[in-house]
Amino acid sequence: MQKIADVSEFVELTPAAEVKAARHGWRAKCLQRLIRLDLPVPATVALPVETVRAIAMGVMPDTARIAAHFGPDFLVSVRSSPENPEWGGPGTVLNVGMNDVMHQKLVESHGPEAADALYLRFVQSYAIHVARLDPDMFHGGPGPGALAAALAAFESETDEPFPQAPARQLAEVLRSMARAWEGTTARLLRQAKGAPPDAVLGLLVQRMALGIGPGISGSGTMQFVDSVTGAPRITGRFRGQSQGRRMAQDTLFLTRDPRGPSLEELAPDVFAELRGYGAVCRARLREEMQIEFTVEGGRVAVIDALRVVRSSRAAVKIAVALAEDGVIPREEALLRVEPRALSELLHYQVDPRAPREPFARGIAASPGAAVGRIVFTATAAQASAARGEPCILVRRETGPEDIRGMHAAVAVLTERGGMTSHAAVIARGLGLPCIVGCSDIHISGREKVLRGPGGQSFSEGELITVDGTNGEVLSGAAEMLEPALDDGFRTLLRWAETVCDIGIRANADTPDDARTARMFDADGIGLCRTEHMFFDEDRLTVMREMIFADTPNDRRIALERLLPMQRADFITLFDIMAGQPVCIRLFDPPLHEFLPHDREGMRELAEALGRSLSEVSRRVEALSEFNPMLGMRGVRLGLTVPEIYDMQARAIFEATVEASRRGAPVVPEVMIPLVSAAREVEIVKTRIDAVAAAVRTEMKAEFAYRLGVMVETPRAALRAGEIAEHAHFLSFGTNDLTQMTYGLSRDDAGRFMSAYVNQHVYAEDPFHILDVEGVGELLLMGASRGRAARKDVTISVCGEHGGNPESIAFCRAAGFDYVSCSPFRVPVARLAAAHFAL
Ligand code: PEP
Ligand code: MG
Repeated sequence: MQKIADVSEFVELTPAAEVKAARHGWRAKCLQRLIRLDLPVPATVALPVETVRAIAMGVMPDTARIAAHFGPDFLVSVRSSPENPEWGGPGTVLNVGMNDVMHQKLVESHGPEAADALYLRFVQSYAIHVARLDPDMFHGGPGPGALAAALAAFESETDEPFPQAPARQLAEVLRSMARAWEGTTARLLRQAKGAPPDAVLGLLVQRMALGIGPGISGSGTMQFVDSVTGAPRITGRFRGQSQGRRMAQDTLFLTRDPRGPSLEELAPDVFAELRGYGAVCRARLREEMQIEFTVEGGRVAVIDALRVVRSSRAAVKIAVALAEDGVIPREEALLRVEPRALSELLHYQVDPRAPREPFARGIAASPGAAVGRIVFTATAAQASAARGEPCILVRRETGPEDIRGMHAAVAVLTERGGMTSHAAVIARGLGLPCIVGCSDIHISGREKVLRGPGGQSFSEGELITVDGTNGEVLSGAAEMLEPALDDGFRTLLRWAETVCDIGIRANADTPDDARTARMFDADGIGLCRTEHMFFDEDRLTVMREMIFADTPNDRRIALERLLPMQRADFITLFDIMAGQPVCIRLFDPPLHEFLPHDREGMRELAEALGRSLSEVSRRVEALSEFNPMLGMRGVRLGLTVPEIYDMQARAIFEATVEASRRGAPVVPEVMIPLVSAAREVEIVKTRIDAVAAAVRTEMKAEFAYRLGVMVETPRAALRAGEIAEHAHFLSFGTNDLTQMTYGLSRDDAGRFMSAYVNQHVYAEDPFHILDVEGVGELLLMGASRGRAARKDVTISVCGEHGGNPESIAFCRAAGFDYVSCSPFRVPVARLAAAHFAL
């Protein structure tokens, strides 16, 4: 004996009914809200999830009571109602209850053509989706004889006539939808969208609103904002005499349109009524909704309402507009925008509506998209820019000698590297779309071709698109959307600032970076990497002279030439930042990075310095290191060639006096990189104090400065207590700290990172998302030891993690004072921090 499911538990959607999203699904809940708002929703009953589950398990539903509930003219649709609208669900089945009797009634009320079309449509969808017959046999459109043919085909395939009992039809439809939800493909699809393995489905049975008949009749959807821009605009569709796409006869524009008739013109009352429902939904459901409706002889029925699908830029605009109109509080507007989505607004973006053809994928290192012609060298990039042709710099990896090429390019693509490799860091600073670690591609610099994994090849000068937001390289020129730094964006950022309880600074090396930081209201500069200031042609040569100096005197002469350049740099930064804190990191990278690597470069250098080629090669060789990341870097250079830091300190202090004289007072922050012992700090501090004293006397001016230390070696984190005794602030350089904690080269990790993440060795790329368990423990230990030694020590993070929402949550929970990230990541960081504060 087959068990009968107790469907007596169905609930009619009335204003007072007990309807819960967890028990009846979101659509049931949403429809009940519409009913409470007095919208004309056709009679609807909801089956709870446990009944649907039982039906799926093979228990026969007893649908007679439901059929009886709807009365003699039983004609309904069945809609799915999962707990979350994102999880999909089987498609709606219309016209359940259609049989010979109903057909005859409709012939009399609506004419034979409409009656045939409705019956045919039901037979077709029942045959295909419920009886699972071959769709090819049931594809024909309405026409003379089509209904009879479909009924005959059904009978010959199933050996029984098309079922006439409405309760039986309903039972079969419920069963097929309940089973479809349990199918493997449906399960996998919804799990990919975040549904739990045991996600359940509710089902709704709704009286049909026909959308056919005399006068204005039809069905459609209407929404009141543009899905791409978020601007107020009525869009949607209306099809006369229809229940949806397949029966469409004539399509009307919704609003007045020179191209043809519109609902607004033909049925102004209907149009105004729908508009009114949109306004009610917006005000009372506190959301922009798309409504699905039918019109029968001028009478409107609202059969469903959905949250408007929206792009990132539309999400911002809609949330801000709702808050500005007093529909939702500002805090809620902030929470409704996903922080990461903001970065899409700051850059050009591939139009999500356009077709895309990716041929390779890499690490999405810097967001935004750009179209340009392929170039393989920095020189070619500059030549291309000079011709006014946008270009994409494609390199195996980049180094300081590529900086000018990167400036000239509209995007960068590298075969190697990870999230903190040179190309990634510089591109993020420049706001340039960038993909690194794209091991899918192979670059042949000699042949000047780029080969894709599928054998495609692209020569220099060919057009490609780099989508740094998702790491895809596309062939040809993709359709683009412009950045959207509009009022909505600015308003949202301003609101975020008022609730944000951790500082957000920017990593900025150039005046452009600083201006971007100001534009996004950063709370100052948290890291100015001074070595990036020496890559311009005129400075590079002087820098090289300094490195090549044989005697302290020669070195002094070169440094004296660099001093005014650095002073001018700092004055500009202080002026732009107008009294906001500016943290300047003393020179960090290995010296050999400033030297040429190939023979041609060495010959040029020999010429510029007036030395022999053999001497230049010998010196370059002598300066090269096996592991430069752990070699003569940062404070080690400061201790061995102290004149460099002396010069930089002097430039900072002279600029401080100069900028303070004409603008807001400046208290510069001077930061020492790559420290591993307190004594290093003591030695450097003594010299910097001496420079400060000398500048005060020479310039007859008073100024204060703050000295800080980058904590980016594990030992510095462990010894943070004694280091803090000499430092006003400790800033965690989590790029190097991650590299050294894992013993993993930040420039090479990209090559095998995906294998590690795919096998769950690492949950995420630790250069991208802070490893809270390992590196995080060093951060907590360093912060608490630093604070124990010096209560008021300022603690921050200035590695790339500073712009990553999950990492910001960690820093905020640990009570850090600020995070600092690339200027273009400031808005994302700000909004993420605001979310955590709310
Ligand atoms: C760091 O190491 O985290 C850092 C900010 O410095 P850089 O990336 O310049 O080494
Ligand atoms: Mg570092």
